[in-house]
Amino acid sequence: MAQHYDVIVVGAGTAGIPAAGFAASRGARVLLLDAADRIGGTLFLSGGNMSAGGTRVQTAKGIKDSPDRHYDDIMRISRGSADPTMVRLAVDHAPDTIHWLLDIGFEMLPEMPVINHGHEAYSIARTYWGPKLGLSVLESIEPWLQGFIDSGQVTLQLNTKLAGLRQDTDRNIVGAVIKGPDSVHRVVSADNYVLTTGGYTANRALFPMLNGGHPLYALGSEDSMGDGVLIATGAGGYVRGGEMIMPTFGGVEDPLRPGFYNGGLCNLTPQYRQPWEIYVNREGERFVCEDTDSVDARERALLAQTDLRFWVVFDAAIKEQSPSIIADWPGNPYRGGAPPTSGTIYDTAFDGHPDFFRADSIATLAAQSGIDAVALERTVAAFNDGVRGGADPLGRKHHPLAIQEPPFYAIRNHGTAVKSYAGIAVDDQLRVLDRNDMPIGNLFAAGELIGGGVLTGNSFCGGMSVTPALTFGRLLGESLLQWRRNEAAAAE
Ligand SMILES: Cc1cc2nc3c(=O)[nH]c(=O)nc-3n(C[C@H](O)[C@H](O)[C@H](O)COP(=O)(O)OP(=O)(O)OC[C@H]3O[C@@H](n4cnc5c(N)ncnc54)[C@H](O)[C@@H]3O)c2cc1C
Repeated sequence: MAQHYDVIVVGAGTAGIPAAGFAASRGARVLLLDAADRIGGTLFLSGGNMSAGGTRVQTAKGIKDSPDRHYDDIMRISRGSADPTMVRLAVDHAPDTIHWLLDIGFEMLPEMPVINHGHEAYSIARTYWGPKLGLSVLESIEPWLQGFIDSGQVTLQLNTKLAGLRQDTDRNIVGAVIKGPDSVHRVVSADNYVLTTGGYTANRALFPMLNGGHPLYALGSEDSMGDGVLIATGAGGYVRGGEMIMPTFGGVEDPLRPGFYNGGLCNLTPQYRQPWEIYVNREGERFVCEDTDSVDARERALLAQTDLRFWVVFDAAIKEQSPSIIADWPGNPYRGGAPPTSGTIYDTAFDGHPDFFRADSIATLAAQSGIDAVALERTVAAFNDGVRGGADPLGRKHHPLAIQEPPFYAIRNHGTAVKSYAGIAVDDQLRVLDRNDMPIGNLFAAGELIGGGVLTGNSFCGGMSVTPALTFGRLLGESLLQWRRNEAAAAE
């Protein structure tokens, strides 16, 4: 007879690892499955930025903060569009998630916490990360999980995909249909089924269906195919939050992963590099004041642009004299020197990368890159008038040089999907809900599967994916899941 577990966790990523480990720490016999050949999920790619208000790290540095202030900041940034219940659950328990990570050996950079301007800034320094970003998180939780695998509390099965769920007439889940490396389908059972299969940001068909038709510019894990969304809806759950979509500002096709995008290649954050270039849409118009402090303003403006695309336009003088727009991060294949000079690897991008364009006139640049040529010439002329006269049409303050010296350049950027905004509806105990908002028995979900929109509304609040994924996984394992053997033991 097939073994019955107390808990089956599907997806050994950011949320699944703590869910499995904490349940095991309470004595549960856990089956942890992952379709991939390794654990970690999106942590291999993630920035691993975490946010929490009221940590001992802040106290030690004299930073006054609390979950309430974190909550207020999220509601301010999201203009009240985040889900109050889910945000409360996340921020109230976020400090203990940071403390748990530190206790199990998480290496945090000494300058943490900081205010991160890559996303709309919090009012207080409450963002933390390690030297290896998402990998720093994984490197702390993997050995911790390994302890439970070694003790036999957690059985880990890799290369094993959840294909479906079986339900009884009351809709309780009675079995998980899984396909292992031998491609044979098997049914495993448990008291609790926890779906932590991540988002759908690699699924080109599903993404526009769930997000109002917006195109997908993926930069996440190839494994984020939305399996959990499809399987949970098949079991009676429903999807909410698709209208919360907000693209992340910028990203060009990743030469190392064709079809995926690299969000960090161009440095478009004025707090880290003031813009010298202009940003134009397909219609050849500037659509946002490039040096606005607000990431949210840039992202909201991008949401309204055709195909979620824009072009960063500049000339030879700007290319020579400005600090490199190509972000200088290790491993970046188009990393430039600062300032970039002819012959750097940055230049090679203009010789073949599909998002990089160079031409001897603005009109030819526009034709090559798919921008309205007449409008672009007009836009460049108006910008140049502003540079000479000191008054920019959009109120921009930083514009050291006009765009006038050939060759001219354009880098096409895209509104990228760092996370899935829509997700499976759950209640404050992370039980999957049906369309009447009634829990479906023993089916739980956490992580990106429940949708980033509930936690950040139609905005992007930094660290509000990794921290809630870890936190909700932890809460499930630590207290929310109950199993019959446990209840029987408690009754004795
Ligand atoms: C480039 C990038 C940078 C980011 N930076 C940040 C950041 O700095 N801060 C932040 O808060 N958020 C960030 N995010 C988002 C954040 O990292 C993710 O939302 C979060 O890690 C997702 O955690 P998860 O547990 O839901 O999913 P994952 O960690 O992706 O885990 C899901 C697991 O489920 C497995 N799986 C999927 N389908 C099945 C199936 N059918 N059967 C079995 N297993 C399955 C997958 O293989 C995977 O291992 C970033 C995302 C990206 C892509």
